[in-house]
Amino acid sequence: MPLHAELHRHLGGSVVPRILWRYFQRHNPQFTQGFAEYEGFEDFYTKPRNTLDEYLELHTMVESVQTVETLPYFIYRLMRGAYTFENLAYLELRYTPYLRTPEHLSQSERIDCMAEIVEVVGKASQLSNTPIITSQILCMHTRLPFEVNRAIIDLAAQMPQYVCAVDIAGGDNYYGQRLDEFINLYKYALSLGLKTTGHLYETPEGCYPELLPYLMRIGHGIQIPLLHPELLPELAKNNQCLEVCPTTYIKTGTLKDIQQLKIVFERCFDAGVDIAICTDNAGLHNVRLPFEYENLLTLDIIEFEQLEACQQAAFRHAFAWPHQNPPTQILHGLLKPELIISYQ
Ligand SMILES: [Zn+2]
Repeated sequence: MPLHAELHRHLGGSVVPRILWRYFQRHNPQFTQGFAEYEGFEDFYTKPRNTLDEYLELHTMVESVQTVETLPYFIYRLMRGAYTFENLAYLELRYTPYLRTPEHLSQSERIDCMAEIVEVVGKASQLSNTPIITSQILCMHTRLPFEVNRAIIDLAAQMPQYVCAVDIAGGDNYYGQRLDEFINLYKYALSLGLKTTGHLYETPEGCYPELLPYLMRIGHGIQIPLLHPELLPELAKNNQCLEVCPTTYIKTGTLKDIQQLKIVFERCFDAGVDIAICTDNAGLHNVRLPFEYENLLTLDIIEFEQLEACQQAAFRHAFAWPHQNPPTQILHGLLKPELIISYQ
């Protein structure tokens, strides 16, 4: 029984379509009015989009119903599903807390509401009857001004019991004009002792080498092996891990063919760059983490040894995994102590 670590999952995209449908039927029927039956809604919710922007637009719909009151409802179901159907032992959940605060409030009032959101998410994910170790990654966002993004970093630093790192989200094609600003924000985060990841090199328009030195992990990063493989040795030297989310690139239109990922894995393995396989938006895609692994294997994109290497890399690069070893080794020690496996 392999237990998985999920390093890249958005709260907004983590709600599976059936649960969202039931929620809308009960509380926001206007969202289901265009669909005679559930199947039509599921098709709409999970279908591939033409661009990353179009894809990210869907998050807005879910964000609007994830409020301080409703978050425990969604998170309880998320944790239950992740334990029962995904064999997760570890989960980093990421989102932008500001976008879960009431829209009618002023910016400073909304900033003041963020701590409660983080606490609600933290308590809800820890209260469920599942032995999954969880932590949060707070996302700065390209739609938000500097003051809000800086407040998100401050909050992350103030709540280490719930938060392990910061990220930047909202589309990597929007960094250009504000690149210095985002670099300064990451410098600030590192100065506070925070861990860092960031959506970068996801699309050909999101290639900003200037940001790389500030990231411990790279959200997606697939354009590095595809378009800029000369950067890989530096990544390997810095022990920077790519968070590769295979289904995303088809849903966003970033890749036309999933087989293109074969080059990503080959070049990273050759250069000694670790890859953690992740879902990004397991609900939105209706694809759970074990199937991301299995799909890559059956499509002949990775081999079994590479699959195992990625599973182990995910635990090594997890920001808040508290144990020295991944759970497989812990389980072996319990169930078959005569089997000693080295993961180093
Ligand atoms: Zn993402």
